[in-house]
Amino acid sequence: MKERKSILEESIKSLTLYSIVFFVLIFIIGIFVIKANYNEEISNLEKDYNEQINLSSNKYIKEEIKNIKKYLDAEYNYIFDSTKEIIDSTYNFINEYITTHENKQEALKFVQANTKYPIRIDVSNGIDPNYIYYARYMEIDDNQIVKFSIDEKKYQESQTIVALNNIKNLHNAQISNFKVRKLDDSFNFLGNEKWYCVYESKAFTCYDKNWWLALEFTIKEDVLKANLEEAKNKRFKSFLMQGMFLCFSICIGFVALWIFLVRKRREVKSQIELAAKHFDVALNKQISNFNKDKKLNNDFAFKEFRTLSYALLRFIRQIQTKDTNIKKQAYVDGVTGLMNMISVNESLKQYAKKDDKLLLFLFFNIDKFRVYNSMYGRHFGDEILKIVAYRLYANLKGLAIGDNEHLESLDYIKYDKYKFTQNKNKFECLARISADEFLLVVEVNKDEDYYAIAKNYHQKLTARSIKITSNDDLIEYEPFRINARIGCSLYPKDSEDLHECIGNADLAIENDKASGDTCVFVYTKEIGKQNEENLTLQRDIRNGIINKEFLLHYQPKVDCKTGKIIGAEALVRWQKGDTLVYPDQFINICEKSNLIITLGNEIIKMACDAQRRWLAKGLELKLSINLSTKQLLSEGIVHTIEKNIQGIPPRLIEFEITESFSIENATSKAIIDKIKKLNVGLSMDDFGKGYSSLSYLNDQDLDFDVVKIDKCFIQNIDTNERNRKLVEFIVNIIKYLNKRSVAEGVENIEILNFLKHLGCDEYQGYYFSRPVPENILLEKVYENGKN
Ligand code: C2E
Ligand code: CA
Ligand code: CA
Repeated sequence: MKERKSILEESIKSLTLYSIVFFVLIFIIGIFVIKANYNEEISNLEKDYNEQINLSSNKYIKEEIKNIKKYLDAEYNYIFDSTKEIIDSTYNFINEYITTHENKQEALKFVQANTKYPIRIDVSNGIDPNYIYYARYMEIDDNQIVKFSIDEKKYQESQTIVALNNIKNLHNAQISNFKVRKLDDSFNFLGNEKWYCVYESKAFTCYDKNWWLALEFTIKEDVLKANLEEAKNKRFKSFLMQGMFLCFSICIGFVALWIFLVRKRREVKSQIELAAKHFDVALNKQISNFNKDKKLNNDFAFKEFRTLSYALLRFIRQIQTKDTNIKKQAYVDGVTGLMNMISVNESLKQYAKKDDKLLLFLFFNIDKFRVYNSMYGRHFGDEILKIVAYRLYANLKGLAIGDNEHLESLDYIKYDKYKFTQNKNKFECLARISADEFLLVVEVNKDEDYYAIAKNYHQKLTARSIKITSNDDLIEYEPFRINARIGCSLYPKDSEDLHECIGNADLAIENDKASGDTCVFVYTKEIGKQNEENLTLQRDIRNGIINKEFLLHYQPKVDCKTGKIIGAEALVRWQKGDTLVYPDQFINICEKSNLIITLGNEIIKMACDAQRRWLAKGLELKLSINLSTKQLLSEGIVHTIEKNIQGIPPRLIEFEITESFSIENATSKAIIDKIKKLNVGLSMDDFGKGYSSLSYLNDQDLDFDVVKIDKCFIQNIDTNERNRKLVEFIVNIIKYLNKRSVAEGVENIEILNFLKHLGCDEYQGYYFSRPVPENILLEKVYENGKN
């Protein structure tokens, strides 16, 4: 079987799965983000490139031009400012030099030759008002005026060289070419502009009027392109690096998760083992509870059960299915498919009393069912029960019974049609409650003729003959009719207790205090009274046994030929206060309960004690003790007998067992066999009464030594010709089978003579003696011995 994993294990599995999904998602999103970022960067680079390649929009060049212009302006202003200083210092120097030198003309020439500045020293007639540069004038002795001025052109040229060098330094040589050229004198500036730029054939040229210069910028396209490619490569590399970093982080995360899961799994496994241990304990508890009460205990205290709960639930479901099956079996009678006593009880529990309704209880008892069973076998008996069930069912449900009744009855069982679910309109139960007893509980109106209902059931049950098909081709059963007795009682008229009503219906059957006829017996209050009396009686008997109120009387058994007492039958009596109570008043009651076993064992003990006293007196009498069927089948009977006959020759003890169907029973045969092995005598009591079968006489397994012919045949053989013939026949057979015959109920000499004539071995009866106390028996034995 494939083992299912626990919820914990499952959850770990799904956790792993979810984490993998999570990591994959993270990876995808990460890659997406990085890629988008990369794309954006690349497009920025390209945008930048396009901007740069176009000189008019190239912000670097613009910046550069701005700087150069600023520098040139500053430098131009500086030239102005610096000439003043140069001229002043030259003037001061010459002024000083001339004062110390006599020849001022000479001194002037010397200074002019040695100054490094482009100073112009002119002898002028006066101040030139058009001269824009700074100049100083000096009057030399011969009233000559000397003008100190700067040689602008030279000065500017020297300054321009410096400026141009500096400008080149200001230029970013990487992305653009920069050329400066001196404008020739013929160049015409646009209007009055001192500075302007022109964009033309991929070059950007700016003109400066102060410096008479043209500055020309061209873009280095290949450099820009290479720059772009390089930047792109750099970006791509960083993109790869980022991707790798992402993968690496995910791997690290995954390894961490893996380690966590492995550890968790180990933990879970140990938890499961622990839970399984608890589970086992609880399971066993459940099973034992279930076996005991057929009930499940819902109290699951263990926390660990949650993890195993589905297994438990499955187990419970299995049990419940089994439980329902068991219940189904437990609630249905296996032979007939009707309800059984358990389901009747269950149904009755549900019944709610109604003011205008009564519940009619019909208790059916099939006549001679045991005889059919023992004569034709169990199968035959079962078939009868099925047909009875079917007839009752059909009558209840108003179904017509067809010709194929037997087969139909089987169909009804097979198809599970007997389902007495609580009908809301009408309560009804139909059940087989013991071997040959059926119970019908049905709701009737208060004014309904329930006696007629019972009669109708009786009629439907018994009117048609039954034909049973044999399993064996060689055997064919003749059609026959059954009879049934029905006991009736009503709820709540007869009893407020539903279960008591079942008992009442049962009690009514064949009760002489019942009203009705020979087949339908209706419960009366007298029956209830009698039943109560019986219960009281049982209690009294129980006390009587404890108080040793039971004693034995003995009826002599006489040899027909010699007239000598050869034995005695022990018959129980009850000394209840002053009155001596006879067995017909209490044996039946005892037999209905288990009292007969207690009492019977007490009787065996008393009888054996008596026998030992007689032996002690030197008397050799065979003592017969009656054994009831129930007692015979009771546990430990063989042991009881064995224990009590200690010290008595077994041949002087004989047990009278009522010839009855129970002898068919394998258990009773086995017990009889064991008793026989104790070497005590066995007598078949009451032969001919009830359901006698001659076959018992010849049964090798039932080795009776004596057959007692029932007193109902004997008592009137003097007057009844038929019985005379019958007894003659029975005695002859007993003789033929080599057993001893005993006649009981011999009340007069005529009967005795007839029995003697038949060759009967022993007799017993009022003619010789009634059952008498022990001392009287012994007197009789002495008396008899004298003759
Ligand atoms: P049973 O075993 O058939 O006993 C014989 C019954 O016939 C006795 O009645 C006896 O008094 C009566 N009887 C004897 N001779 C005559 C006669 O000539 N005419 C008439 N009409 N009756 C006669 P008893 O003592 O009243 O016992 C009745 C039944 O009670 C017994 O029938 C037996 O089945 C049962 N019983 C008596 N004592 C015991 C006992 O110790 N154990 C058991 N299990 N059953 C006992
Ligand atoms: Ca007897
Ligand atoms: Ca008898």
